[in-house]
Amino acid sequence: MHDQDAAQKKNILKTKVAIIGGGQSGLTLASILGRNNVPTICVDRDPPALHISENFDLRTTAISYGSAQVLKAAGVWDTLLAEACAIKDIDILDSDSPVLLKFLIDDVQKDAFGWIINNRDMRIALQQKITTHDQTAQIAPDQATDFTAHDEYIEITLASGTIIHADILVGADGRTSFVRKHANIPTRKWPYNQRAIICTVAHEHPHNHVAIEHFKAEGPFAVLPMSDDADGTHRSSLVWTEDYDGSVYAKENSLMALSDDAFNAELNKRFPDTYGAVHMVNERRAFPLGLEHAVDYIAPRLCLIADAAHGIHPIAGQGLNLGMRDIAALAEILVDAHDNGQDLGTQDLLETYQRKRRFDNMAMAAVTDALVKVFGVSFPPFRAARQLGLKAVDRINPVKKFFMKQAMGTSGLLPHMIKEDEK
Ligand SMILES: Cc1cc2nc3c(=O)[nH]c(=O)nc-3n(C[C@H](O)[C@H](O)[C@H](O)COP(=O)(O)OP(=O)(O)OC[C@H]3O[C@@H](n4cnc5c(N)ncnc54)[C@H](O)[C@@H]3O)c2cc1C
Repeated sequence: MHDQDAAQKKNILKTKVAIIGGGQSGLTLASILGRNNVPTICVDRDPPALHISENFDLRTTAISYGSAQVLKAAGVWDTLLAEACAIKDIDILDSDSPVLLKFLIDDVQKDAFGWIINNRDMRIALQQKITTHDQTAQIAPDQATDFTAHDEYIEITLASGTIIHADILVGADGRTSFVRKHANIPTRKWPYNQRAIICTVAHEHPHNHVAIEHFKAEGPFAVLPMSDDADGTHRSSLVWTEDYDGSVYAKENSLMALSDDAFNAELNKRFPDTYGAVHMVNERRAFPLGLEHAVDYIAPRLCLIADAAHGIHPIAGQGLNLGMRDIAALAEILVDAHDNGQDLGTQDLLETYQRKRRFDNMAMAAVTDALVKVFGVSFPPFRAARQLGLKAVDRINPVKKFFMKQAMGTSGLLPHMIKEDEK
């Protein structure tokens, strides 16, 4: 190890794992490592209070069965489950057709396909949890401005002048990752010329735990069941995709340009009648959509996780779920190495991580990309063939079961890191 006295003189913080990015993925990894006594520092450029303020992130996340396991290992699942809404059935519609494909929870022996969770609830639970771990520190607001890998450690410089020495640097700093760019890791990327408009919608009648994915010519219209609010209002979360290339025409014709009344009128035209009258309860937000995948997830003494490594279209609600699988793979490697007294940043460990995660992430990126393209075609013969395909999936049980398993994600992640009373 390098000289302890010199480190103290330069006010160097020493740790095993330095995570840059304290969003949903960075905090989840920090919490799992903290629970397993791996010294960890998590840095975010924003003040933590901003991330849990009411208007910071109005989105919800569809959490798969597999991700629930990872959140159990992070020690926050019980808290999240209290506010979560279970997805029990999934209806797939195409254009003006009735429901073509229906996934019913009774067909699988589980309580739910997944759960809809408020991003804010997840941020609150994770932020609270990491303060309970002696071995975990959060530095925020501050940001990484430089790093250099050495034989025995990686040195990270923060904007405040603080220097961190760690065995390994984990880039969890999202789609525009500074860590990825500074390590000169290229990406393959393309825009979809679409953006997702999100908001929460209140409705007259209960949703009965049904999630709807309605593929429309202009892009998918997804309705995700939320738990009722404190005064019993029935709610769902909307992810409505529109074509958007940034032109003046696109801006003028965007869903974001509609008045609240006009937007509500459009919602009422599109929601199934079973919901009764619907209206938006908070503001609309727009997220540009594209695919971006890092060519490598590793460089000397560093690795990338979640959106820093791969950003995909939300059409199948799988972005963070993939990130959770990265976290499970990496946590397993790091906790094992730490328990065995090993250096956590060796090339061997980094390569094991990359090997475990690249194929799964690339496959999901390809599937979501294909879905965007296949369902983006409104040419009538193609649409008819697509609808026949969906009907066929509905009738062929093994194929249907395969899709149901995919929607639920990999189970059995991190079993030994989940405490007995949380199983
Ligand atoms: C409309 C929409 C709907 C979605 N729905 C779903 C869904 O249903 N299910 C699902 O699984 N996924 C979904 N996703 C994807 C999911 O939201 C993302 O995968 C997830 O938010 C990524 O989290 P992250 O922590 O990796 O990155 P981010 O949330 O981008 O966090 C990165 C963090 O890094 C910090 N940071 C950046 N640079 C620095 C720096 N230099 N130094 C320090 N800190 C830094 C930022 O402040 C930020 O807190 C959806 C995405 C969209 C756009």
